[in-house]
Amino acid sequence: MTEKSLTGQARRFDDIKANYFGICENISKSAASSGRSAQDITFLAATKTVEPEFINYAISLGLKEIGENRVQEMLSKYDQYDLEKAKLHFIGHLQTNKVRQIVGKVSMIQSVDNLRLAQEISKQSLKNGVVTDILVEVNIGREENKSGVFEEQTDELLGQIAELEAVKVRGLMSVPPICDSKQEIFKFFDKMYKLFIDISSKKLDNISMDYLSMGMSDDYNEAILSGANMIRVGSGLFGARIYR
Ligand SMILES: *Cc1c(COP(=O)(O)O)cnc(C)c1O
Repeated sequence: MTEKSLTGQARRFDDIKANYFGICENISKSAASSGRSAQDITFLAATKTVEPEFINYAISLGLKEIGENRVQEMLSKYDQYDLEKAKLHFIGHLQTNKVRQIVGKVSMIQSVDNLRLAQEISKQSLKNGVVTDILVEVNIGREENKSGVFEEQTDELLGQIAELEAVKVRGLMSVPPICDSKQEIFKFFDKMYKLFIDISSKKLDNISMDYLSMGMSDDYNEAILSGANMIRVGSGLFGARIYR
């Protein structure tokens, strides 16, 4: 390794450290502003494109949850994650035919938006002797070509998934539209929180509303203020993504 790249590497570790503790501080403040504490908020790092050495460095600082988007990338990095200290989530769009490759390896699949996918997760979980935690993904902005069910379809899908043997719904996840103003993003987060509370209050059999996963690098504070208890931060922690 050249001297120059060594320096670049050292600087990247420093940046991750500063970012990590900065985000933790922001989480504390936003949690306090919404009557909670940092312990009530799960900080998940979105690790797509990030090399395992940087992911593990963040874990060494105290990070406890990581999430990958692509099955292939996750499998190629799988043996290198420090999974003694952190849990691995799948947060990207998941094709039904790839489910068997990740069940048993991930602690949660956050992006379930149709019954066929949930059925396959249950089937593969049974084969592996596990129960897989999932979140139902909601397309709160009703965007075309975006994953997630519409608000009004959520109840029906939850009812169907509740019947499955080896899948456990733990809450809701959403990726709202890109917004020009904070006011606009609050509108979507507030809608999600309302849906989350509505469903929680119904106390559906075999459905736990433990997690509301929303908020990314640019808007995790707004998400927490709106009631999120799990945020997914990528570039804000690891720096801008470089796609190879
Ligand atoms: C990449 C990604 C994130 C994090 O995005 P950043 O803007 O880099 O924080 C969160 N959630 C999902 C589903 C992602 O794919």
